[in-house]
Amino acid sequence: MGHWHYGHNVAGYLPEADTGTADTFADAKAGLAEDISFERDGLDYAPGDEFDEALYVSLVETADELGTSEGPEFLAYVRDGGEHRIATAWWITPCGEGDSCETWQAGQAEEGSR
Ligand SMILES: [Zn+2]
Repeated sequence: MGHWHYGHNVAGYLPEADTGTADTFADAKAGLAEDISFERDGLDYAPGDEFDEALYVSLVETADELGTSEGPEFLAYVRDGGEHRIATAWWITPCGEGDSCETWQAGQAEEGSR
């Protein structure tokens, strides 16, 4: 069965947060949008701090871009304007492994046990 993975990570590094899986692009989109607002709300946002401000704006722009995305995949880079210098990639990708995907299987098992 087709499914999608989504998450975010600093370019060149493994995801720092858990990635998600979804059965449809729309679900993946909703999941990633939630992650983006969580990240945005968690910002230690000090007015006047140019880096935080740039990061905030970049997250808002990415959420907007995600909102208009039709799929089947999505990739946007969030930048903080200088502090970390390396962009964070926010992505949704269709998985080609189908039923043999271990990450997806683990998610299904978890859902079944609820
Ligand atoms: Zn997969």
